[in-house]
Amino acid sequence: MAVQTAATAPANTSSADDSSAGTAPADLDLGPAAALSCRECGERFALGPIFACASCFGPLEVAYDLPSGSPEELRKRIEAGPNSIWRYAPLLPVPADVAEKPNLNPGFTKLVKADNLARELGVTGGLYVKDDSGNPTHSFKDRVVAIAVEAARAFGFTTLSCSSTGNLAGAVGAAAARAGFRSCVFIPHDLEQGKVVMAAVYGGELVGIEGNYDDVNRFCSELIGDPLGEGWGFVNVNLRPYYGEGSKTLAYEICEQLGWRLPDQIVIPIASGSQLTKIDKGLQELIELGLVEDKPYKIFGAQAEGCSPVSTAFKAGLDVVRPQKPDTIAKSLAIGNPADGPYVLDIARRTGGAVEDVDDERIVDAIKLLARTEGIFAETAGGVTVGVTKKLIENGVLDPSLTTVVLNTGDGLKTLDAVAATSQATATIRPSLDAFRAAGLATA
Ligand SMILES: *Cc1c(COP(=O)(O)O)cnc(C)c1O
Repeated sequence: MAVQTAATAPANTSSADDSSAGTAPADLDLGPAAALSCRECGERFALGPIFACASCFGPLEVAYDLPSGSPEELRKRIEAGPNSIWRYAPLLPVPADVAEKPNLNPGFTKLVKADNLARELGVTGGLYVKDDSGNPTHSFKDRVVAIAVEAARAFGFTTLSCSSTGNLAGAVGAAAARAGFRSCVFIPHDLEQGKVVMAAVYGGELVGIEGNYDDVNRFCSELIGDPLGEGWGFVNVNLRPYYGEGSKTLAYEICEQLGWRLPDQIVIPIASGSQLTKIDKGLQELIELGLVEDKPYKIFGAQAEGCSPVSTAFKAGLDVVRPQKPDTIAKSLAIGNPADGPYVLDIARRTGGAVEDVDDERIVDAIKLLARTEGIFAETAGGVTVGVTKKLIENGVLDPSLTTVVLNTGDGLKTLDAVAATSQATATIRPSLDAFRAAGLATA
């Protein structure tokens, strides 16, 4: 499989023996994490702040010594843990006492049984919304950042950084504030006000870059290779192998909240594609450990039409993802050159799923549909997943008789502009009963 190295792994700035970390302590403790292994050639490397294979430049991922013992014991141990992602510490690259370190304790968000939405969409097999707007900075990014922070601590970094489509910048700023790191984060200059404010309010440095996300990411890759970026842990670049593992917790939580059962179908938004690939990895681990029954599941990827490089490749039957210039209201998903695109294609095809996209109008409709049926206000990324779910049902691709989980990865308050024009006061009146009566709203 062809690997795109441009977005994550510039071949000239990183290799397995080029460590720009501060001082990684000799007693490095990242719990069950055993090594980094190349997703392409399988070569293994010692744990460190590296992200590309020295031999083939493939992306690195964390390999584990997963816990032994019976599934019953492990389930009990997890269920007795904290109500955060740290209940899954035995399956993550973090020390066993991670919950006691200063952090935001993200995760264990609600899995909402969405019966009203199910009726509206004609789903009979059980429809659930995994609502990650309930995280500390109101997006799923708190999960991935929490893991990257532990890696940054272990490797002796003192500054946290990232290239972000918005939510990541806020999550890094907040986590750095709590954990006592300096932060300096980079975003496209034209993001929604809610994202900019949330990235700035935690007191770290926030830099707007004149360009789109792919420009920001390219800039950060250069910064890593430069003395200017020395001692910096970029959560989604040189700490990316650890960062990505945080998304596995979505898989763990969904299954535990379903009573240690796999869902039949999951609809996941795609920006870089990391989250989708790691949810698949998490589900595979649960099967391997015997925590859930080994049965098939289908993974569906969701994009906005205005930034749909992966769904375009999927529909064309291609293995290669051709970069696009994003133009969509779903800015948190606006990555035109998704690093994990080829792996997403692989997973969608292997599991019998699909990748689909919806236009901005359908995204807005879907935000309002979810709000009106379930009382959940999603950001545009949630509009993408709900909109794609609806479209996949209409097209007969998603089976409405199966248990389906749809991800909402962010809070609607961050993208108010998407719905502001069509969500206003029904009427504005003088404070009198006569005026209210005259407005014609009161119905029995
Ligand atoms: C970052 C993000 C995603 C997915 O990101 P990946 O790069 O695909 O892991 C999904 N939704 C929201 C709201 C995000 O901020």
